[in-house]
Amino acid sequence: MRKNIVAGNWKMNKTLQEGVALANELKELLAAKAPNCGVIVGTPFIHLASVADLTKGSVIKVAAQNSADKESGAYTGEISAAMVKSTGAEYVILGHSERRAYYGETYEILKEKVLLALKNELTPIFCIGEVKEEREAGKQNEVVKAQLEASVFNLSKEDFGKIVLAYEPVWAIGTGLTATPQQAQEIHAYIRGLIAGKYGKETAENTSILYGGSCNPGNAKELFSNPDVDGGLIGGASLKAADFKAIIDAF
Ligand code: PEP
Repeated sequence: MRKNIVAGNWKMNKTLQEGVALANELKELLAAKAPNCGVIVGTPFIHLASVADLTKGSVIKVAAQNSADKESGAYTGEISAAMVKSTGAEYVILGHSERRAYYGETYEILKEKVLLALKNELTPIFCIGEVKEEREAGKQNEVVKAQLEASVFNLSKEDFGKIVLAYEPVWAIGTGLTATPQQAQEIHAYIRGLIAGKYGKETAENTSILYGGSCNPGNAKELFSNPDVDGGLIGGASLKAADFKAIIDAF
């Protein structure tokens, strides 16, 4: 059965000391009672080893927010999947709309990143989603279909079974606008149907599909109560331990 997951994406926030303090605070908040879902924190690269170390043995798992499309070598400033893995992180967020929009990450680049993440035994949290104009034109289904087909539907059934998807309507990220629970359910069900068509019903049923886009303690419960919404990828609200914990408690 698929897992419910609440994953945080800290983006480019927090110094090393602030990040360690946030992870420690979250660890303490979650220690009293085991959450009813998987918990992941997506930190900047510089925090990975420290946060992986301090959360070892706790329910919290650690994700990078990116990894390179090359194995190793003369790529100044890049961080490979093997390097991420060596920190103790187990996940990597790939295909986030900010990476696609600001850093030119194409379908092909993302395809390589996913392959290298899997090769290095990292679980990709692969993000898909449409921009506002595409939603207004009613093109959201064709957009997510193209994103899946171009970057992850090349995977074998076994490898596809290892990834987590996050549907993130770009118009809802950091804007305070949230997809309605109905909009989220509708497209999550569509995505699951695409997976079923490609890999079969069992794989589709076992794939966790997270919702991301201005998810907060006030709307998480209603979003997560949809049958095809298996948790959330949380940006802004993951930067405060109490808010992130309240979202986790929605399960
Ligand atoms: C995100 O960036 O993945 C995200 C969902 O951000 P926010 O929750 O701030 O909209």
